[in-house]
Amino acid sequence: MAVHGTGSYDPDNIFAKILRGDIPCKKVFENEWVLAFHDIAPKAPVHVLIIPKKAYVSFIDFSKNASVEEIAGVMQSAGRIAADLHLEQAGYRLITNAGQNAGQEVPHFHLHLMGGKALPAFPA
Ligand code: IMP
Repeated sequence: MAVHGTGSYDPDNIFAKILRGDIPCKKVFENEWVLAFHDIAPKAPVHVLIIPKKAYVSFIDFSKNASVEEIAGVMQSAGRIAADLHLEQAGYRLITNAGQNAGQEVPHFHLHLMGGKALPAFPA
């Protein structure tokens, strides 16, 4: 898979296909702002990907181009998902990878929500 994080949005990336319903996902949550689903190769007992419904390549793209309402909607959704998955007491990690050096594989901005075990010291 190509490594991205900058440049223009590729409408054929795998998360765009999931959003269009072209390929399936194991959905955890959906509202007007986000779709959240289980990572296909989980790195922790809970490993959920939270993606905005709109097209952003990276966090900087999202932070520059999303409305304040959308940014709030995405972040509040992430908090609700973490709480719904009972991670508040258990602890969790919320990260985003951007660009080649961070190991971003899918060029659609996303948050990784991980928990359910003692996570390795950061950065792993
Ligand atoms: P990134 O490295 O931050 O871009 O993370 C991309 C994540 O997407 C990885 O953890 C992959 O395991 C995950 N992934 C790739 N394809 C799929 C899929 O079709 N469904 C769910 N997760 C996927």
